[in-house]
Amino acid sequence: MGAFDFAKGTLLLTEAGKKRRASLHLLAGRAALAEMDPGGLEVLGSSLHEFVGAIAPTNHTLKRALTDPHILSGIGNAYSDEILHRARLSPFRQTAGLSPAELEQLHEAILAVLGEWTRKLADEARGDFPAKVTAFRPEMSVHGKYGQPCPVCGTAVQRIKYAENESNYCPRCQTEGRMLADRSLSRLLKADWPRTVDELEARGRTGGAGGSPPG
Ligand SMILES: [Zn+2]
Repeated sequence: MGAFDFAKGTLLLTEAGKKRRASLHLLAGRAALAEMDPGGLEVLGSSLHEFVGAIAPTNHTLKRALTDPHILSGIGNAYSDEILHRARLSPFRQTAGLSPAELEQLHEAILAVLGEWTRKLADEARGDFPAKVTAFRPEMSVHGKYGQPCPVCGTAVQRIKYAENESNYCPRCQTEGRMLADRSLSRLLKADWPRTVDELEARGRTGGAGGSPPG
């Protein structure tokens, strides 16, 4: 546990989950901080050209590319679900298979979703410490919404479970009606799906060429 004393109160950082993925580092100076940077692009404020430059050299599933901090910075499981839903793209599409129009659609969806949530969370906090921080928000479209209607088309939101994580998508908006759950899915999961943050960071940019995408 970490405790930070401020004039108005004390911020306690604890890890509630059993996965023990959280860590705290105390660093001195920008150089020390830069060493910790996995190097992914900060998409907010990036141009389409920079975005394509970051993801085009990889060939990963979109889910993997969005959540890999060596490729793109700051997008976790929850927001990647929301972004892919906004972009109307399957989490299993491969980055190398996207058309220029789809790359633009994905870049715009990232800017829109991250921008909206940054404003929403800042408004709610209004200068105070956010009292409750969670990846599950009732206003999300698909993340954490398994079985509930997609806000765009009303279809029940589906899920892909892998290791300890769950990913949500709308089969009508994103996968042309297909459900992503069969043996090709588990083969693909083995090759190219982020299972844990630790594994992701250990693998870096070199890991996992994908198989043929089912969706
Ligand atoms: Zn839908």
